[in-house]
Order: sequence, then structure tokens, then C-alpha cells
Amino acid sequence: MTTHVAILGAGFGGLELASRLSESAADEVRVTLIDQNESFSFGFAKLDVLLGRKTVSEVQLPYSDINKDGVEFRRERVTNIDSETRTVTTEKGSYDADVLVVALGADYDFAATPGFQPGELEYYTVAGAARLRDALEDFESGKVLIGILGHPFKCPPAPFEGAFLLHDRFVERGTRDAVEIRVIGPQSAPVPVTPEVSQNFVDALAQRDIEYVASRHIVEVDRGRKEIRLEAGETAAYDLFIGVPVHRVPEVVACAGLAPDGWVAVNPDNLETRFPNVYAVGDLAALPGAKAGVFAENAAKVVADDILARLRGTDPPQRYEHNGTCYIEFGGGNVAKVEANFLGGPKPTGRLLGPSPELAADKREFAAARRARWFGS
Ligand SMILES: Cc1cc2nc3c(=O)[nH]c(=O)nc-3n(C[C@H](O)[C@H](O)[C@H](O)COP(=O)(O)OP(=O)(O)OC[C@H]3O[C@@H](n4cnc5c(N)ncnc54)[C@H](O)[C@@H]3O)c2cc1C
Repeated sequence: MTTHVAILGAGFGGLELASRLSESAADEVRVTLIDQNESFSFGFAKLDVLLGRKTVSEVQLPYSDINKDGVEFRRERVTNIDSETRTVTTEKGSYDADVLVVALGADYDFAATPGFQPGELEYYTVAGAARLRDALEDFESGKVLIGILGHPFKCPPAPFEGAFLLHDRFVERGTRDAVEIRVIGPQSAPVPVTPEVSQNFVDALAQRDIEYVASRHIVEVDRGRKEIRLEAGETAAYDLFIGVPVHRVPEVVACAGLAPDGWVAVNPDNLETRFPNVYAVGDLAALPGAKAGVFAENAAKVVADDILARLRGTDPPQRYEHNGTCYIEFGGGNVAKVEANFLGGPKPTGRLLGPSPELAADKREFAAARRARWFGS
């Protein structure tokens, strides 16, 4: 008898978990991995599309390439989750699982910001990044406003990476003097893992003459007047508005009663929800600190170990620390990395290394290694 593990969502967390279970317990565990999409893309690949470094099809890694012992991939949309019975319904059928792992990521709530609909300029989806790439072709001068519309949002450095890369692009085109770049967001400082990490961003923004307008809540985008409205009643004009949409759990997760307070409550040590043998991995978990793929990956490792420890009757694994190392584009071919740990000690720790061209090479290796591990045999 094998244990049936259903993993909902084949993103950063789901792919890592499926790979780990296959590697360490293919004879004990049968995995059904379910995702609505045909392919996976790394979050950071959207920056490549935005800059025209890669086409949309070049960043899509088809799930049909998954070749893992004991793992069956199903391209289906999850329509219902019964957390008590661990029964999952999709538009094509239903699955009864011994262990259920919900790794459906964070969705975007466009309706939360009047005036900012799907199809607007953003680079938080692959399609949005392609639209923005095209819109930039004709943009020679004016005010670029990157607006962070809610918190928490995926990859806290991403709005600033976008600003650095746009700066480079305008410099290369000889138009930087004619373009003003501002980032407006709800946080009191950029990437506030620690004051020291944040200061690196403050300095890098200042060096590039990019303004971060802190602690502001954008409540409306008025496309007719080309201005945003802030909670305090102020307005700010733009010529090109790029939004980081409000994030929320996917509807199906909210309907399952897993996220009564907005995000999925978990035991932070092993990521089990209040329902036995139902875990939540990745962006949808209610954990302090940042949402990013590298944290989802480490969460998947702990959940894989926890599932196997229960199965084998061995000691529980080392507790989850909500830690990871993120690569960050600073422009000019340079990449930095931030090592962050949110739950390993009494307060979060973080340090930034680089930026350097060597770390840019490390980032490419990071992506290649995951691609081989998640999709190879
Ligand atoms: C511009 C940008 C840059 C980023 N850069 C980095 C970076 O450098 N490093 C980093 O670590 N992170 C980065 N991230 C963040 C990273 O992409 C996410 O944090 C990560 O993908 C989260 O993993 P996850 O497994 O929780 O969810 P996801 O990877 O989002 O996967 C969730 C999956 O669930 C599927 N799904 C959702 N609903 C359903 C449903 N009803 N039925 C079936 N399937 C469903 C989706 O199709 C998706 O494949 C970046 C993000 C962005 C937007």
C-alpha cells in the first residue's frame, strides 16, 4: 500500500515537493500533482520578458516534460477542496488523498484597486511583462510610476528590480534624462528584512535618481486623468503606470475555509494547517516576512520530511525557519543575493551580498539546477 499525496499547484513549492518525494520515497508514496496551467515559469523570468531578453515561450517550462518516478501530473483546475476528508474536486474529476498539500500560490485581486484591471501594465504575470515590454517601445519621456497596490506581495525586491532595470533601459536608449522614475508603496522602507538590507536599496535607488515614496496606500488609478489617488486624498500624476497588484489567496482556498484571516494559517514548525494531514506550502501560507519562491522551496523540504517521518514513525524533521536566499537584479549585469531568515531566531536576520557579475552567473545556475531537478528523470 502506498500513501497517496495530492499536491495542488505545480509552482515553486509544488514542484519541489513532488521532486523530493519522488527522490526519497517513490516506493512508499504516490503523488498526484495538479495544476491548471500547461507550463511553469520562474517569477524572475518575467523580468527577462519585460526587458526583451527572452520571449514568452522561452520562459515557459512545459509540465509535459515532468518525468519523475511515482509522480503523475494532471492539468486540471481545482474547483473544490474538502479539508476534512481531503477530497479534491477538479473540473475533470475528484481525488481522495491521504495527505493533501495546498500549494496554489497567491492570486491577484485586480478588483481591489478601481481603475487597475487585468490587462493593465504590470510585470507580475508573463502576459503583463510582454505588454509592458511593448509599451516601453514607444515611451521616450515622462513620469514612470511603479505603484505597489497592497501588502504582502510576492518577492519584495521585485518592484525595485524593475525600477533598476528600467533605469538601465532608459540610459541605454539615451532617454534617462527625460524620464522620472518613482516607486510608491505601503511599506515604510524598501525590502525591510533588516534596516541594513533595506539601506542597500535606499542607496542604490538614490544613485540612480529613483525616488521611493514610502508609507502610501494607493486607492485608485484614474486612467482618464493619468493620476493615482492615495488614501490620504493626495494625487500623483503619471505618464506610464506600472502596478504591483493586490495579492490574495485563490478563491478555491478561501471557499475551503482554510484562510479565515486572509492567508492560510499553519503550524509554523511543520506547515500543517488546522486540518490533520493537510499542509500549506508557499505564498498562500500566513507567515511573517516575505513571500518568495525560495521560501516555498524550503517549506516543501520540511513538508516532505514531515510526511516521511510520520509514515516511517521517525522523529519529526528540523522545524521550518522561513529562510532562503534570493537573487536580485541591480542592473548593469549585476545581481545581489539576500540571505534571509524570518523564524530561525528571536528576530528576522538578513544580509545582502554583492551585487556582482559572479552572482548573476550563480542566479543562472540556480534556475538551471531547479529546471533539471523538477523536470528531469
Ligand atoms: C516579477 C517577479 C519576480 C520574482 N522573483 C523571484 C526571485 O528572484 N526569487 C524568488 O524566490 N521568488 C521570486 N518571485 C516570487 C515567486 O515567483 C513566488 O513567490 C513563487 O512562485 C511562489 O511559489 P508557490 O509554489 O507558493 O506558488 P506559485 O509558484 O505561484 O504556484 C502556484 C500554482 O498554483 C496553480 N493554481 C492556482 N490556482 C489553481 C487552481 N484553482 N487549480 C489548479 N492550479 C491552480 C497556478 O497555476 C500555479 O502554477 C518573483 C515573483 C515575481 C512576480
